[in-house]
Amino acid sequence: MDLDTLKFDSAGLIPGIVQDRTGEVRMVAWLNRESLQLTLDTGFVTFWSRSRQSLWVKGETSGNRLRLVQIRPDCDADALLIVADPEGPSCHRGTESCFDSSPEGGPNTAPWPATLPWLGRLEALLTSRQALADLDGSYTQKLFAQGVDRIAKKVVEEAGEVVIAAKNDNREEFLGEAADLLFHLDMLLLERGASLLDVVEVLHHRHAERTGGPA
Ligand code: AMP
Ligand code: ZN
Ligand code: ZN
Ligand code: ZN
Repeated sequence: MDLDTLKFDSAGLIPGIVQDRTGEVRMVAWLNRESLQLTLDTGFVTFWSRSRQSLWVKGETSGNRLRLVQIRPDCDADALLIVADPEGPSCHRGTESCFDSSPEGGPNTAPWPATLPWLGRLEALLTSRQALADLDGSYTQKLFAQGVDRIAKKVVEEAGEVVIAAKNDNREEFLGEAADLLFHLDMLLLERGASLLDVVEVLHHRHAERTGGPA
């Protein structure tokens, strides 16, 4: 990336939108030229703090650093999309994303809309269920406790139901079975210490190999 093509504002700043690899927006902050250069050189996202008027390595006190994956300028080079792997929650209020907190002080109680990144949220919930020894009434906790064979059996069962539903003219039923399959496949991945993101990486890698370059 050529820093000279970027449009810093009159204060020498450019906004950085931080996105994790699930596609979730984690936070928004400002960079000046020096913080951008430091981000590129160190591999850890570094901002310019407008309130403190100083360089700010995200996570310098909390430990919740952002490991740089890629920086993409937008169409007119006046904003940056910063893709990063977070080492912990990104909001100083302790939530994963700044958009999980409300400006009034409490949690943002508005439910997230259905987006593909929301799958990452669902997976995080499943992971927390997996860690529990017992939770009354939790289907997923019970299924995790029954182990890999039971979960694998569910995947086969749901795959069969998807195939049958695909041939019926009932869109709702088809989508319902596809959801069951995806849900249980994710549980199987988690049971084996993997995640949906690992599967996305395999698909991405194959695509990049076939197209002979970056996707
Ligand atoms: P940290 O960079 O996480 O060590 O936090 C250092 C300081 O930066 C905090 O005390 C906050 O003042 C501020 N801060 C951290 N994360 C955010 C954020 N996502 N948005 C705004 N301010 C933040
Ligand atoms: Zn723009
Ligand atoms: Zn925040
Ligand atoms: Zn089903």
